[in-house]
Amino acid sequence: MSDCLLNSVCSFCGKIETITLYESEQKGQLIWGATYNCPHCLNIQEMDGFGIPPDYIRDYLIEKFGLWQVILKPHYSKKEVVSTLMKELNLDFKLCLDSIKNIPIFVGTEFEATWLSKKLGSNNAKVEAICNVNYKKYSFIFSKN
Ligand SMILES: [Zn+2]
Repeated sequence: MSDCLLNSVCSFCGKIETITLYESEQKGQLIWGATYNCPHCLNIQEMDGFGIPPDYIRDYLIEKFGLWQVILKPHYSKKEVVSTLMKELNLDFKLCLDSIKNIPIFVGTEFEATWLSKKLGSNNAKVEAICNVNYKKYSFIFSKN
């Protein structure tokens, strides 16, 4: 699990609250969440979901842990990579086919990149996850927002 702690203004009492943003894995699936916790009025709010989180969560995690990319090494199995991407990220065939033509095939948070490389690696595809903090002009691949 990787998480990031932020301060924000409580929408109920107007004082400073903390927000914990995280990505993790549950039964092999990528999950994300945001917990808003106000120590003043004790308001707690939680949001979570499966798959790739909204960009505002990814932005904070990238700021803290760097931007990561997944690169396919030569001699990977196209068929296996595409089927893994479809299954694990719940994406359609065409998007997966397009994405394997890109270098990197995936750009995102540290947790997403290492999680995805593990998934691809376990399928005999040859992959590596690399942290590239200087990769400034990133655009999220597979972003749904
Ligand atoms: Zn409050």
